[in-house]
Amino acid sequence: MLDIKITKTTTPKAKPEPGKPLGFGKIFTDHMFIMNYTEGQGWHDPRIVPFQKLSLSPAAMVYHYGQEMFEGLKAYKGDNGEVYLFRPEKNAERAQKTNDRLCIPQIPVEDFVQACKAVVEVDKDWIPTDPGTSLYIRPFIIATDEFLGVAPSETYLFMIILAPSGAYYESGLDPVGIWIEDEYVRAVRGGMGFAKTGGNYAASLIGQVKAHNDAYSQVLWLDGVERKYIEEVGSMNIFFKIDGKVVTPMLNGSILPGVTRDSTIQLCKSWGYEVEERRISVDELLEAQHTGKLEEVFGTGTAAVISPVGKLRYVDDVMVINNGEIGELSQKLYDTMTGIQYGKLDDPFGWRVKVCD
Ligand SMILES: *Cc1c(COP(=O)(O)O)cnc(C)c1O
Repeated sequence: MLDIKITKTTTPKAKPEPGKPLGFGKIFTDHMFIMNYTEGQGWHDPRIVPFQKLSLSPAAMVYHYGQEMFEGLKAYKGDNGEVYLFRPEKNAERAQKTNDRLCIPQIPVEDFVQACKAVVEVDKDWIPTDPGTSLYIRPFIIATDEFLGVAPSETYLFMIILAPSGAYYESGLDPVGIWIEDEYVRAVRGGMGFAKTGGNYAASLIGQVKAHNDAYSQVLWLDGVERKYIEEVGSMNIFFKIDGKVVTPMLNGSILPGVTRDSTIQLCKSWGYEVEERRISVDELLEAQHTGKLEEVFGTGTAAVISPVGKLRYVDDVMVINNGEIGELSQKLYDTMTGIQYGKLDDPFGWRVKVCD
């Protein structure tokens, strides 16, 4: 149990007006959680303070060698005013795997979840209530030693900031176009593809720029060795419905193990679908498309929940999926997942965690 000291702001900001688009990750609430780590002392001084700028040495290690991690989850307000998180302990467990890989000191799962709940409760009036909106929660850790040598830092900051965020889709679940990147790769086995860390995103920007230049909204990455097998989309895992079966790349060390991916697999199995977690090549996809067996493609992630894919581009091939329309399974997954998250549906898996009324 953390003994969290709370200092509230004396100058609260104006909250965004209901009905106006919020976008994603642009507006921040009045408060933040912060906790220090010092070698020999461990994590100490957990506190919630007014949202504020940091003052760090320009020699702080995070700026030079990228020793940092992050997580992403959301708080949802139900019609009854109750506030929920969705499987936050999964994020806390994943954070531990990321920390292990990046030599960052561990935070107990209970403490991670407690800190998220505490700061959300302080800023609960910032949780937007327009349909599809939520409060995005961004926990992260940075290395703060003032030192240019290459070694794990001996001091860190763990922070949680909150961003009221809009419905991912302004006009319903619009299928997106996806660019299969055949030149650059995002991660390799033995690297840190399974970890949620900034470096993976830095490596992915160039692919995103290429895709955007060609009017595709997202990048689908191939494996780092043969550039032959499907891995994942920039910030989403990827699923295919082929000949009635649900297929997704297996977790091989270079793919981020998404909470939404895991929830999708559990839901599909509970509905009687055969779910295969295995290697899947671009050639297999092209073949399935040409024989009319590629029925649906969708991405899964906290931000978009389910993101239907209407078009996939690979070198000279453009595959149009399901006539560019959202598939039945994609829609059912979206409705069920959001229904559970907002407290509108039963929660047979025990995924919803109540924060406060
Ligand atoms: C966070 C993330 C995902 C999705 O994970 P969720 O837990 O479902 O939000 C997928 N891929 C990458 C690279 C990510 O960083």
